[in-house]
Amino acid sequence: MKLHVEIDKGSGFCNGVIRAVETAEANLNGNGLYSLGAIVHNNAELERLRQKGLEVIDIESMKKMSGTTVLIRAHGEPPQTYTIAKENNIKLIDCTCPVVLKLQERIKKTYDQINQTVANGEDGELSGGMIVIFGKEGHAEVNGLVGQVNGDAVITDVIHSADGYSIKGISQIDFSRPIYIFSQTTKDPQEYELVCNVIREKIAQAKGCSFEEAGRYIKIHNTICRQVAQRHSNLVEFAKSKSVIVFVSGKESSNGKVLYELCRSANPHSYHIQGIGQIDRGWFNDGDSVGICGATSTPKWQLEEVADFLAGL
Ligand code: SF4
Repeated sequence: MKLHVEIDKGSGFCNGVIRAVETAEANLNGNGLYSLGAIVHNNAELERLRQKGLEVIDIESMKKMSGTTVLIRAHGEPPQTYTIAKENNIKLIDCTCPVVLKLQERIKKTYDQINQTVANGEDGELSGGMIVIFGKEGHAEVNGLVGQVNGDAVITDVIHSADGYSIKGISQIDFSRPIYIFSQTTKDPQEYELVCNVIREKIAQAKGCSFEEAGRYIKIHNTICRQVAQRHSNLVEFAKSKSVIVFVSGKESSNGKVLYELCRSANPHSYHIQGIGQIDRGWFNDGDSVGICGATSTPKWQLEEVADFLAGL
């Protein structure tokens, strides 16, 4: 079978993940190293690093350790993790992505400002507001963000089902209060816009004002990573230009789920795999153009492995 195979140039590790993986490898040096949580949501890459000595641990294991070295991945961690490390004399190699770090700082600063307005009895348009985070509940990055405000934030997300979609967490938002909303860095920009618009409509209803006027009571922080946002638009064009799309990512990757759905909406002949073992010959016809793409956690070597496999079909 002759297939015309092309790897999407924009796919593969993002800068934050490249930095974390390179730092891990530089610190392995034949010795073992612990990573707090999976450094990347991709089993093939985790196995490659495991063979070099990188061991994934969870926070409960870290609490029982002392005098060792632990790497913090690109997603970042809540402040409690740093406290535990200090108390247990654990050296941290902090690979929190600078973009995530900046987001953590912005959330903390905003939260402190809100509390300050309350303490000062100020009555401005945005005083006494609440923090809303658009992200996947339980995701490491979201845990790190919520940790900046001692858990005092509502997490909201778009949940898809056969009947359409619903917005999780919306009932916990107090629309009479000003809203400060931030997004997890890897979320879908269109879904973020959707959620912000729904919140704005609810504010308008609660305050009896127009949708335009309700904009005064919601401060939307554009915190989706630029690299991710750029990938969304490029990937749609790439998926449309091919007969078949093979999307490669770990099943735990939240960015992978978002980007695969994007491919599928642009090209119904899109297939999600974790490795070459899941490829089905029946997906292809002779002469097809096949696009290979992946998430911010998919290593380039894995995309190349899939391309080589398809070239040999
Ligand atoms: S997606 Fe963007 S913000 Fe998130 S780790 Fe990668 S580079 Fe950093």
